[in-house]
Amino acid sequence: MNALTPISVSRRADFPGVGDWAYLDSAATAQKPQVVIDAIAAAYGPEYATVHRGVYARSATMTERFEAARSTAARFINAASPNEIVFVRGATEAINLVAQTWGAANLKAGDRILLSRLEHHSNIVPWQLLRDRTGIEIDVAPLTADHRIDEDALEAMLTPAHRLVAVAHVSNVLGSVADIARIARAAHGVGAKLLVDGCQAVPRMGVDVQALGADFYAFSGHKLYGPTGIGVLWTRGDILSAMPPWQGGGSMIETVTFEKTTYAPAPTRFEAGTPHIVGAVGLAAAMDYVSAIGLDTIDAHERHLAGLARAELRKVNSLRLFGPDDSSGIVSFAMEGVHPHDIGTILDEEGVAIRAGHHCAQPLMETLGVPATARASFGVYSDERDVERLLRGIARVKRIFG
Ligand code: PMP
Repeated sequence: MNALTPISVSRRADFPGVGDWAYLDSAATAQKPQVVIDAIAAAYGPEYATVHRGVYARSATMTERFEAARSTAARFINAASPNEIVFVRGATEAINLVAQTWGAANLKAGDRILLSRLEHHSNIVPWQLLRDRTGIEIDVAPLTADHRIDEDALEAMLTPAHRLVAVAHVSNVLGSVADIARIARAAHGVGAKLLVDGCQAVPRMGVDVQALGADFYAFSGHKLYGPTGIGVLWTRGDILSAMPPWQGGGSMIETVTFEKTTYAPAPTRFEAGTPHIVGAVGLAAAMDYVSAIGLDTIDAHERHLAGLARAELRKVNSLRLFGPDDSSGIVSFAMEGVHPHDIGTILDEEGVAIRAGHHCAQPLMETLGVPATARASFGVYSDERDVERLLRGIARVKRIFG
């Protein structure tokens, strides 16, 4: 490899799960820093109690922690109010919630929604389920030659029949970053709302939902160094307060009789049942952790590593790189005559963990003309040694497959 620029930041020592492992699968799920593990252990241990119901002090304290986590999430993405934050299981649940509440209440047969070819299945299938129920039409914006959402084409496709645009902020396969502010202006120009799948953006760049001009923003905690089973749906306050409830049960009500039930205001109206209390506490700890490092620092660190990996992988003949040169910390590639699963298995023998497969983006694989890709994705614990080990592993793949 060429002379390396100094490592800007690597927080490997904060992560007991990483050690000497070249863990390059952060886009699937991130490893957890000790501060998050400690916060979870304390919340399940000496601090544990239910929220919103108990009359005893421990429960009141835990309720404060849970609501403080909502405030932390609001600050993290610059929401106008904590009341715009709904805790959900993850991005998948967030998008299904929007489709089944806002979508079912506001979209009717003949209305159109616009997605892009690089979407994760979780930003495709919920809309197909809604299409089956309502008769809406789904349009799909193409990609540019360098694998970004083609924003010129997207703008040209929009019509007054479009009620929603739903796109990924950062592609989980290509690392390409969409110009969300531009897409928001285009969507609003025809009277459509904009939903952003922010799963791969929140761990690797500062997100300001108000500056972006989005209407809905969804992400999962586990890709942001937090626990599984917790995520955030942010919705602009005026839209959220007009949305009908989704799941029914405890907590989301005001009064219940057999004749009539009235519902709690947002966000509680969308959080039926005992919430993932410890998940919210752990997610807040993760947000505090990345905020202390600084999202700009993380962005620069990951782009540096991705740029290095791309520059070196490009030299390997018979290897095809996907995504734009300025991608964020996610690099996908394919090798002629070698299935990505074989690449993944050989790399695993070298202590390098990558993802191989369709990455829950089968329509994108079809567009790229491959059944699957190999994907290396970086996190705050990644460093240049991981890139070197990836390249050594790829050299071994080449030796084995001739
Ligand atoms: N969107 C994108 C871009 C993703 O990368 C993922 C996770 N792979 C999801 C949505 C779904 O996230 P989850 O499985 O945590 O709900």
